[in-house]
Amino acid sequence: MSFDINTAKGVFNSVEAAIEATHKAQIEFYANSTKGSREAILTAIRGAVLTHAEDFAKMVLEETNLGRVEDKIAKHQLTALKTPGTEVLETKIWSGDHGISIEERAPYGVIGAVTPVTNPTETLVNNAISMLASGNAVVFNVHPSAKVVSAVMIDLLNKTIIEAGGPENLVTMVKEPTLETLGEIAKSPLVNMLVGTGGPGLVKAILQSGKKGIGAGAGNPPVLVDATANLDLAAAGVYAGAAFDNNLLCIGEKEVFVEDAVADEFIAKLSELGAYVLSKDEAEKLTDQILTMEEVNGAKPCCAQEIARVWHPVKQFVGQDAGDILKSIGVESDTRLAVMDVDNQHPLVHVEQMMPVLPIVRCKDINEAIERAVAAERGNKHSACIYSGNIENVTQFGRRINTTIFAHNGPTLSGVGYNAEGTSTFTIAGPTGEGITNALSYTRARRFAIAQGGLRIV
Ligand code: NAD
Repeated sequence: MSFDINTAKGVFNSVEAAIEATHKAQIEFYANSTKGSREAILTAIRGAVLTHAEDFAKMVLEETNLGRVEDKIAKHQLTALKTPGTEVLETKIWSGDHGISIEERAPYGVIGAVTPVTNPTETLVNNAISMLASGNAVVFNVHPSAKVVSAVMIDLLNKTIIEAGGPENLVTMVKEPTLETLGEIAKSPLVNMLVGTGGPGLVKAILQSGKKGIGAGAGNPPVLVDATANLDLAAAGVYAGAAFDNNLLCIGEKEVFVEDAVADEFIAKLSELGAYVLSKDEAEKLTDQILTMEEVNGAKPCCAQEIARVWHPVKQFVGQDAGDILKSIGVESDTRLAVMDVDNQHPLVHVEQMMPVLPIVRCKDINEAIERAVAAERGNKHSACIYSGNIENVTQFGRRINTTIFAHNGPTLSGVGYNAEGTSTFTIAGPTGEGITNALSYTRARRFAIAQGGLRIV
């Protein structure tokens, strides 16, 4: 794929120019497009992304140095194939003695959107499909650590849209994104809505902007394995989910709570599948390498919130292969996942580690496992899963944890339609409540009332 940043379409040196061009494009797009012509553009985007899925997977890995290429190909395919289009934009109609009223979905206008380093181009594609479906345009403030590959994607999206009959600059970005450029997007009177996919700082900034905002924030998804679980299924699901793209995903399994009665067997099954089970000594050594702690005046952090506040993953290990992480303590292994048997206060249980090192906590019964999982999730209301043959346990945990995504007997990835039913998104909006976002999330309700059924009564 040929690319020159200086001639890339939709990539602007100044944020003002990007906003103005996007605004102009949105007015033209909405005035001249139909649901049918917009759907044709979305179909063209899906095709272009599928054609170049492998190229983008490699470019993202090269620029960010995070994750695994085969999983990034799968993520690009997922976003292209399963992000819904115009079909979710339903019209409501009331008809009766007093006339007809129609409520349809209208665009916001220009949306300012922010992307994470963990799914940079996948989020661009997902947001673009969802936002263009109803006639919006979007100016992105992309993650600075993925700005080159993001520019390549913006260029491809623009060329594809133009070829499919749409105007240029429906999807734009500023070449050098910073917190200042985001501030200008947030302040601009030409931008009508903000969407942020990333960590808690970003979500806070979006919600404080004074504009309509959608915030898709951090997770720390727990897995619960109860005594009735099919342990082959549980081990296979946890291994696949927690290792996927080196556990970069916000929905990825970050800690396991297993009932005592089946803990040994569950860990043995993970080991049979290829997981590396760390000894107590190795676990201590590795924790010292991969996590770092802020000084807290000598006081030991107590609860989940406190532990998560003071401990942080060490950046050089985030998104790395398990084998490379293990090498840092002298262990040679080609595993995709390292696991450690720890107590509930261990920092890895409460920190969003974003690497394929998974803590497993033994619990005396289902109630203890549920309470610990709820504490570790820390009210993010993001994702969780349970392996169980007891539907009462499933219901009890589901109600108590109340996350946007709740998977039963399969990885949390099932919640975004991966090897499962349902649509996909890369913007899971827990804090603002839109959940699995789609085109509908980026629309306003607009009512047209035909009084007297359209008759002129004199
Ligand atoms: P990040 O928060 O560091 O960065 C995300 C984006 O926000 C970047 O473009 C960054 O420049 C910007 N940003 C960061 N702090 C900001 C602030 N204080 N004000 C304004 N902008 C700010 O996150 P990341 O490392 O790129 O991505 C990983 C995080 O995102 C994880 O916490 C993960 O759980 C979360 N995430 C959530 C979803 C979701 O759908 N809910 C999807 C992907 C990632």
